Amino acid sequence: MGHRIIQRDTVLASLCLLVVLSTAVAIDDYFWHVTDLHYDPTYLTSQDSCNDVIAADKLGQYGDFECDAPWRLCRSAVESMRLIGPQPRFIIWTGDTPAHPKIVDSINETDVLNLLANATQLIKQTFPGVPVYVALGNHDYRPDNQLPPHNCNLYNVTARTLWFDWLGSIEAIETFSRGGYYTKLMPEIGQKVRAVIANTNLYYYRNNETTGLADPAGQFDWMNRTLRMARDNGEQVHLIIHVPPGVMEMEGWKWFKEDYNRKFLWILRTYADVILAVYAGHQHQDTFRLIEGLDGISKLGILIAPAVTPWRARLSTGGRGPAHNPGIRRLYYNTSYPYTVVDIEQYYLPLTEANRIITDPGSTTEAQAWKLLYRYRNSYNIPDVSGNSLYRALSAFKTRDSAQFQSYYTYNSVASTHHSNVPCDCVCKYSHLCPIEHVDYGASDTCSVQAPCKAAYTTIGYRLVVSLLALVEIVLHFKL
Ligand SMILES: [Zn+2]
Repeated sequence: MGHRIIQRDTVLASLCLLVVLSTAVAIDDYFWHVTDLHYDPTYLTSQDSCNDVIAADKLGQYGDFECDAPWRLCRSAVESMRLIGPQPRFIIWTGDTPAHPKIVDSINETDVLNLLANATQLIKQTFPGVPVYVALGNHDYRPDNQLPPHNCNLYNVTARTLWFDWLGSIEAIETFSRGGYYTKLMPEIGQKVRAVIANTNLYYYRNNETTGLADPAGQFDWMNRTLRMARDNGEQVHLIIHVPPGVMEMEGWKWFKEDYNRKFLWILRTYADVILAVYAGHQHQDTFRLIEGLDGISKLGILIAPAVTPWRARLSTGGRGPAHNPGIRRLYYNTSYPYTVVDIEQYYLPLTEANRIITDPGSTTEAQAWKLLYRYRNSYNIPDVSGNSLYRALSAFKTRDSAQFQSYYTYNSVASTHHSNVPCDCVCKYSHLCPIEHVDYGASDTCSVQAPCKAAYTTIGYRLVVSLLALVEIVLHFKL
């Protein structure tokens, strides 16, 4: 009997140990993703970025939906990242620090470098010693959007001074100086994980510096070699970019030149088994994109984070882009190889409400103004944020009257009432779903035309358009 008791105790102790061990393995770690600060130092004076002139007594302390971010907002975003939780393992910062002034030339390269220096110092002082993986945005350069496919002063200064310690190797400094891209192992996570930071501004449709080039700055070739090496070494890759490939939901803007979109997509599909996730900014909205691997098995998500700036884009038509509250996000990952993004916590600053409460800069009360908006896992009813799970979320979005899609739609504008007070009908819904599912331009266009809600669905005109799009796709396929 005594022997059996000892045996039972031993078994119990072993079980407890197992529980402790499995709990230890299950504990997730996390990092922050911050993007699109768009800091306007003239917010309180000449309001260079504001779409409308705002009366001095109406200027909110944290900003305005018609303007880029005052320093108070940038500072509170980064400070909140520190106050919300313990030290993050690392930070991803995906660019676009200068504002969108009404007169673009009012900011020169020296101004851009000063703004980058301000934001860099803010992050370094708030998170001393924390690794930061940083990508340039299309506004982090002058002339605007024209990031060159070769060495330039801005690449040199950022690589060799501002971000020298973040890049961390002679090779990274060399590739960044040449084309604004680099790779770095991430020992803070583990031995078999790597960051690849690509300069997708080279593929941006408004970049005239790369027109007609097959492979600007040799970046496609470099990505291909780097990802192949990662696969050979059994490494997983966090791919970090500013401008995402594919199409902007609702607006239909196609971010990359078509040839570059196809080539970039080919890389993502080829290495979908190696890339853990893609992180992007630029759109200012909260959304994601899905990629199917060429192996027919791997699935990959592009996680597009909302901006810190609340500014509504000025459209060429004279209208305004959608309003959105400022956002920052925390991403959780499991701490053992192979790694997965386990969850995303999206925090936001409800701008109108935050402007009503006067707080001291840097105070705990100010940090509490930033609130948890949602968690991916709970809101989309998925076990993690892997590509497979995101496909599952998309399937749920597609069902009629999907509650998950309604949540997505609210979060897409970071819970801005300007946006979510307008109901999203079927056409609106597919203007989100098609870009999520199809990064390929032709497939996204076909999806939009085939949306089941279109009145033209059964007309001869519709059939002609679909046939034409299919033909264009075949031609483009063979061109590749
Ligand atoms: Zn951008």
